[in-house]
Amino acid sequence: MKAENLPADCPSIDNLLQVLENSEKIFDLEKIQRAYLYAASLHEGQFRVSGDPYISHPIAVAEIVAALGLDTDSICAAFLHDTVEDCSDKTNLDIIAARFGDEVAMLVDGLTKMNDINVEDKEEAHMENIRKMLFAMSKDIRVIFIKLCDRLHNMRTLGVKKEAKRRTTALETMHVYAPLAHRLGMQRIKQELENLALSYLDPIGYNEVNSDIERKYGLNQNFIENTRSVVSEKLNEYGIRFTLEGRVKTVYSIYRKMFNQNKSFDEIYDFYAIRIIVDTELECYTALGVIHEMFRSIPGRFKDYISTPKPNMYQSLHTTVIGRDGIPFEVQIRTREMHHIAEYGIAAHWKYKSGDRTKEEIDHKLEWVSKLIDAETGVLDSEDFMHTFKIDIFSDETFVFTPKGDVIALPQGSTIIDFAYAIHTEVGNKMIGAKINGMIAPIDKIPQTGEIVEILTSQSSKGPSRDWLKIVKTGEARSKIRQWFKKEKRSENILIGQAELEKEMAKFRGHPTDAQREEIASAIAKRLGMKESDDLYNAIGYNGIAMTKVTAKLKDEYEKVVKPEDDSTPITNTEQIQTARNRKVRSDNGVIVDGEYGCAVKFAKCCNPLPGDEILGFITKGFGISIHKCDCPNVEINKRNPEYSDRWLKAHWDHNISSANNKSLFEAMIQIIAENNMMLLADITAALADMKVSLLSINTKKRTEHDIIINLTVGCKNIEHFNSIVSRIRNIDHVRSIVRGFT
Ligand code: MN
Repeated sequence: MKAENLPADCPSIDNLLQVLENSEKIFDLEKIQRAYLYAASLHEGQFRVSGDPYISHPIAVAEIVAALGLDTDSICAAFLHDTVEDCSDKTNLDIIAARFGDEVAMLVDGLTKMNDINVEDKEEAHMENIRKMLFAMSKDIRVIFIKLCDRLHNMRTLGVKKEAKRRTTALETMHVYAPLAHRLGMQRIKQELENLALSYLDPIGYNEVNSDIERKYGLNQNFIENTRSVVSEKLNEYGIRFTLEGRVKTVYSIYRKMFNQNKSFDEIYDFYAIRIIVDTELECYTALGVIHEMFRSIPGRFKDYISTPKPNMYQSLHTTVIGRDGIPFEVQIRTREMHHIAEYGIAAHWKYKSGDRTKEEIDHKLEWVSKLIDAETGVLDSEDFMHTFKIDIFSDETFVFTPKGDVIALPQGSTIIDFAYAIHTEVGNKMIGAKINGMIAPIDKIPQTGEIVEILTSQSSKGPSRDWLKIVKTGEARSKIRQWFKKEKRSENILIGQAELEKEMAKFRGHPTDAQREEIASAIAKRLGMKESDDLYNAIGYNGIAMTKVTAKLKDEYEKVVKPEDDSTPITNTEQIQTARNRKVRSDNGVIVDGEYGCAVKFAKCCNPLPGDEILGFITKGFGISIHKCDCPNVEINKRNPEYSDRWLKAHWDHNISSANNKSLFEAMIQIIAENNMMLLADITAALADMKVSLLSINTKKRTEHDIIINLTVGCKNIEHFNSIVSRIRNIDHVRSIVRGFT
């Protein structure tokens, strides 16, 4: 196609048109060409700070938009994105709508409105901007995609701008655009934005890390080459088709680690990473088996984001292993499609599917966005907001009807309480009961899509119950319940907060006096930016602060105030145990221990009990109550010891956790003895993947000339689930025997 009336000095877009013509998708090249010519004529005579004709910017943005796989209208909007604002004497949205259709005009409108975002690095302004963007996003996600492309090109060309402008733009990029790209799973854009922003915000730090990286790679060139070649060789042996990438970490990711963990460059532990990209999911697990066979893995570093994807759709297997000369390196394994989604995120959906269906699906998945914006200002504190932002973005939804026929979309697993708060805060606060399809139902019930839920309210209701906080699924409901307690129940909150904090203190040695407790609480309150201890108790009481935030500070304040010599009575003290036996406390771990003395419950690593196993508790010194299986060898040995006779406690599973719809996972150990065979690991990991079981670790060792031992740790719901996993594995060829636990 030839441009007929191109203004002078205008670059051609033949390259772009060529790329679009060669793509699998169909584009309206004539319309794109028209949008370009119109934008070029509007921007004629305008120049960028660099001296380039202004149109070079929209062209670059359109190219990035096209590379992202977006459609004709998005590319047109990219060409026109600055026209309404910068050429208002010559055009407006009506003209654009008449020439290019309503969709293009709507996209240009969204992009124009986002231009007046003006950010200082203040938290509030930051949230306000994110709200604005979410608003644009809730209308059409393509607005955000194009905006990110626009920002990316502005960042690439930021060098010519004045220092002050560079700083604000880079800050805004770091605080708003990069996190947004991250939330949408668009890693490639996110990483480039972060690296560019860093290079303007801390040019010295950026260059230092950059040259350190070059130096380290230079020094260990052999290590990387060697690792690559041994891994490639082995994968070839298994007949896997793969791509291997050797340099994965970005300057910013290393810089942030050094900064956050206050480490020097040489202390960065997982500096090296390789990425293996294969064709199928099955090959991912096979490749993982191969890696673990070749190198020793570091325990606790294995993550299976394939069976459990991240909320932003990211899927991959991660493991860290020790390479030659003891150098650790991370291995990421994923399929080509997962790789594409990891790089382009939600935009990849756009690319893979086509037409209205995609738009509907994505709009639908972003419905929560408009809800967030409608929420009263201030109801969602920023932490909650970001939390909801993270978990809600791609979780599946349930659609429940009100008696009037309105549809309320809720994240899957939401209860009637969530539903009530989704309708209105007051409906939640005044709820006394509910009906599902006309039948009275308990309010912790999870309604299914299509059910009609009626909330029964009463003016004389005493308000929500604290237990609701443990039941609700949505951040919206949780935050509204907290707000209610914060406002209505200060004195009660204070008592509850005090008791909670005492419970935490009881885990330490010594017996602080009331005055000492008060001193500790005040110190923690100050450190958390609160005025006095009552504010802290209140916040704990209405769940306005995570206990982990408090306990992180508790230890050192406690040690400052309570001297070690205060300690004379260990936790085995009979009196304490007696008191403990008189209480019945429900723990959050799904275990009910008769007489738990405010200690946390943990599951013994020697036997890893699962719901359904017969269990009992043992009062440890200072580490709460550990839960063992009744037939654990450690129990059998120690039960006879008279010294421990009063430390054993009866325990049983809460029926909620043993029930089939429970979602908590427990670690289960499976030991397999099998005839050594090429396909064995692949078969096992494929069976697990097929059952959607997450693999937490896998280790193999030779047993005899022909046999190997495979130790697996998997995530397991209960004993029936465990048995079903075992019987599936037992059917795999070459498996000789399976036992629970490692020997
Ligand atoms: Mn622009």
